[in-house]
This record gives sequence, structure tokens and C-alpha cells, in this order.
Amino acid sequence: MKLRRSLIALLSALLLYPVSSGIAATERGYLEPVIDRGMAFPILRTDWYSVINFRNDWHAPRMRFINGRWRQVGIHEGNDIFAEPGTPIVAIVPGRIERVGWTFYSGWRVGVRDGGGRYWFYAHMRRYAPDVEVGASVDSGDRLGEVGNTGYGADPGHHDEFPAHLHVGIQEPDGRWSNPYPLIKDLYKASVKGL
Ligand SMILES: [Zn+2]
Repeated sequence: MKLRRSLIALLSALLLYPVSSGIAATERGYLEPVIDRGMAFPILRTDWYSVINFRNDWHAPRMRFINGRWRQVGIHEGNDIFAEPGTPIVAIVPGRIERVGWTFYSGWRVGVRDGGGRYWFYAHMRRYAPDVEVGASVDSGDRLGEVGNTGYGADPGHHDEFPAHLHVGIQEPDGRWSNPYPLIKDLYKASVKGL
């Protein structure tokens, strides 16, 4: 009886964790980040069914309902990647953490400055990874936090105003934001190549 039970456990483990993918699984079924040209797709993939969804939403109008009217409050200066709440967010490039904490629109956010002076901005997190603090160094693929839907509120922790996603922003050294989508798309393709 005991033998049969462990045999069943072994078989289910083999079915749940296919060894053919060539990508090592971490805790809770999250796969290790795939590093492509020194960079990582910022959302970890899973070996269970989950949806990662993004499109080129750079400069899409941002509307809010204020005093009974829809008003455009700005344009989108980044790329939104939709994923299950709690999915790990990792650093795209190496750098030093420059900002951590709450802002009205971005919720819990992290800003990383890379060696070339670009600022990499990750927003709407549910929670931070351990050791995420101003001044800490990160490598590409290092955990920054978890996908959430915090923001659009003054109170730290305010959430549920929109579906869970990661907002990625890239600010050039001259202060202008640039479109992350072409890079995100390439890194996504690299991340699924071995699956
Ligand atoms: Zn966004």
C-alpha cells in the first residue's frame, strides 16, 4: 500500500514537472527566468496554465471618470503586462534600486537605474521581494516583487481599481520615456523558446 502510494506520487510529480522543457522549475512551479543578451522578461512563467497578456499600448489615452465625466488624464508612457496576481516580477536589466515605495498612480513601485543611466520602472506591485530597498544592486532576473493592482489612490495599499498587471516604464538618461514594447516582445519570445 505504501509502495503504491509513493509510486503514484512519483508518477504525478513526473506529470506535473515535465523534464523535457530544459528549464528548471523553482518553488510553486515558477520557472527560472530566461536571460537573453543579459536581459530577462520581467514576469516569471509557470509550468501550470496561466495567462500572460500584453500588447503595444504605448501612448494609449488614459481616461478617468471625474465629476460625472470621462476625462483624459494623460497618455500611457509604458507597457502593461497582464498576469495572475502574485506572479513574481524580476528585473529586466542589472542596476541599482533608486526608488521604492508608494505613489498615487503607480501604487507600490520599484525604480532601477542601470549602468548606462536608463531608469527602469516597475509599478502596481502587490508586494515587494525580500531585500528590495534603495541602494541595493539587482541582476537581471532577480526578484523585485509580485504582480498586483495597487495604485490610483492616495492611501498606501489602495488596490482593485483595475485588473492586475505590471507596468514597465523605461526613462532615457535625457528624461524622456521610451516605448518598452519592442524589447518586451523580444524578451517574451526568448522566454518561451525552450517550452
Ligand atoms: Zn501602464
